[in-house]
Amino acid sequence: MPELPEVETLCRQLRQVVVGTRILRGLILDERLGKMEGLEGKRVLAVIRRGKVFQFQLEGGLSLFFQLRMTGRFHWQEGGDIPPRARFLLSFPHGSLFLTDVRRLATLRCSRGEDGFPRGCEPLDGLDHRRIFEIARQRRLPVKNFLMDQKVIAGIGNIYASEILFRSRISPLRRSSSLTLHEWKKIVRVTREILDRAVRCRGTSISDWKDLFGRKGEYQKHLRVYGRAGKACRRCGAAVRRGVMSGRGTFYCPVCQK
Ligand SMILES: [Zn+2]
Repeated sequence: MPELPEVETLCRQLRQVVVGTRILRGLILDERLGKMEGLEGKRVLAVIRRGKVFQFQLEGGLSLFFQLRMTGRFHWQEGGDIPPRARFLLSFPHGSLFLTDVRRLATLRCSRGEDGFPRGCEPLDGLDHRRIFEIARQRRLPVKNFLMDQKVIAGIGNIYASEILFRSRISPLRRSSSLTLHEWKKIVRVTREILDRAVRCRGTSISDWKDLFGRKGEYQKHLRVYGRAGKACRRCGAAVRRGVMSGRGTFYCPVCQK
C-alpha cells in the first residue's frame, strides 16, 4: 500500500490542485528525505505517474520523483498547522501539499532530466500478454510474486495481486513459467478491469488509505478474496486460505484457483 490505483488517484487530484500554479516554498521537514533547492517561484507543469512513482515536472527542467512505499501519504490543506509525521511541504498561494509518513520509508529524488521511473510495463497503458508470457516463461518464482515484480509490471502490490489471481482462477503458488499464453491473456484482461475499477473507486481503504483530501476510497467494497481468510469463497464456498509469500499475507481459494 499504496498501489497503482491509490497513486493514480492522488496523481489525478494533484493535477487539479497544483498544475499551472507556482510554488511559494518547498521545505524538507525530515532530512532523511535528502536535499532540495530552487523550487521557489517555479510553476508545476505536470504531475505524471508510472507504476507507483510520481513525477512533478517543474519549470526549468527540474523534477521531483516520489515513491510513497508503505505509509507515505499526500495531504492537501488550505490552512492550519503542519500535520503530525509530515516530512515534506510544498506551499502554494491557495494551500499546501504535505507528505506524511509514519514509517519514513517514502523516497524523494530531485533530478534534472533523468528518468526516475521504474522499468516495468505500466498496466493502464495496456499490457501485452505475449510479452509478459515470454518473460514469465524464464521465471520460476510464484506467479503472485512475479505480478508484484516492479521490473516486469509496475504498480501491482499485495492486495491487487491477490484479487487479480482470484478473478483469473489461478493459484498464487503456481510457477510463473507454468502459465499458458491463454492464462496470461486472462490475467492481463482481469488486471485492467480491476485496476480501472479501483481507480474509479479512489483506491482501497482497508488500513489507513485516504485520498489527497482525506476521503476514504471505496474499492474495499469490491474485494473478493483479500482479507477473507477462513470465510467461504464467493465462487465455490470452500474456505479461503491465507498463506505467506515473501512475507506478505496472500489470500486464495485452494479449490477454484488452479
Ligand atoms: Zn473457490
